[in-house]
Amino acid sequence: MTGFGADLMARLDAFAGFTEEPGLLTRLFLTTQHRAAADWLMELMGKAGMNARLDPAGTVVGRYEGTVPGAPALLIGSHIDTVRNAGKYDGNLGVLAAVAAVAELDRRGERLPFAIEVLGFGDEEGVRFPVTLTGSRAVAGRFDRAALETRDRDGVRMADALRAFGGDPEAIAAAARKPGDALAFLEVHIEQGPVLEAEGLPVGIVTAINGATRFAVRLRGMAGHAGTVPMALRRDALAAAAEMTLAAERVAAASDAGLVATVGRIEAKPGAVNVIPGEAAFTLDVRAPEDAVRRDACATILGAFEEIAARRGVELAVETTHDAAAAPCSPGIRRQIEAAVTRAGVRPLSLPSGAGHDAMAFAGVLPMGMLFVRCAGGISHNPAESITVEDADRSVQILLDIIRHFEHETPTP
Ligand SMILES: [Zn+2]
Repeated sequence: MTGFGADLMARLDAFAGFTEEPGLLTRLFLTTQHRAAADWLMELMGKAGMNARLDPAGTVVGRYEGTVPGAPALLIGSHIDTVRNAGKYDGNLGVLAAVAAVAELDRRGERLPFAIEVLGFGDEEGVRFPVTLTGSRAVAGRFDRAALETRDRDGVRMADALRAFGGDPEAIAAAARKPGDALAFLEVHIEQGPVLEAEGLPVGIVTAINGATRFAVRLRGMAGHAGTVPMALRRDALAAAAEMTLAAERVAAASDAGLVATVGRIEAKPGAVNVIPGEAAFTLDVRAPEDAVRRDACATILGAFEEIAARRGVELAVETTHDAAAAPCSPGIRRQIEAAVTRAGVRPLSLPSGAGHDAMAFAGVLPMGMLFVRCAGGISHNPAESITVEDADRSVQILLDIIRHFEHETPTP
């Protein structure tokens, strides 16, 4: 019994046909393929009993009225842009699962005391222009107009691309929901990580979208002959970087607060087999669901770096290159999602999101929450991304249950 699963998977397959590269899925913000996908989605929404339109920032909006027309809306959405050579489920699953849930309400003639708006945002991935969350920020009333002046790699301004797409750069402020017009924001999304699969669970409840801090670290020691300089007299920048990498790993591994730390790139100079590295540079990325945990961890890790540098006689320079606060999901919404997961007979597991999502744009603006869906091997941003038809079905069943039991709780968090 797959219920909604088979139809949803077929739609996801069909939707993946809107691509710039035949055989691969690449659908960037404001391209003709994005517009064709938006038209297809609006038609689908129409068949599901919604009034569909394109908002000024290029978001597809499908509205299903409640018992009283014009009632405040529960917003449910995700993104329909993709990375290059993407999988079919990142973003698209959340939008098409929401359409499937509303289609079921419509089929049964069910109206709720609130409206539902399904949102298909156009730019979560930030691949074409050097900005992200354009659509969700516009709906949340947090759009920065400077984004309109950014250009893609062909020199096309976002404002011009948006106009050609059918959006309206001058009217973006009007895309924002007025206070009282929206009740909450929900997002269904693949986990993009391996936790649910390892736990044997189809879905999970997101606690927060992790905050992240990134550093560029540079070390200066002393280059020297690999054969002639005794070990005790060396100032090896790469060996220091290696010890720092392990220190960062140790701090994160010792935490039980969802902390992760990664050294993703490391370089050494002069980079020869017979020369002690005189210079090293590496990146450090630290993420956690709570800002205080992340800040404490950064302080601990940087303290360890200073100790290692001093002991090894290596100069240390650290630059912060990125710092973004965590976006906690609302406790009330988490409880509602957890209740629906439990009613579905699934053990409710809460987990943080290590990746960014549209839901971030709503933190502090609306009660916000996310349901994660298991994906094979935790793989995403890759054509090998996959989910099962049973899990697709579960995600719609649980979303429907959340909608049917939804209670508006006054403000966040
Ligand atoms: Zn996504």
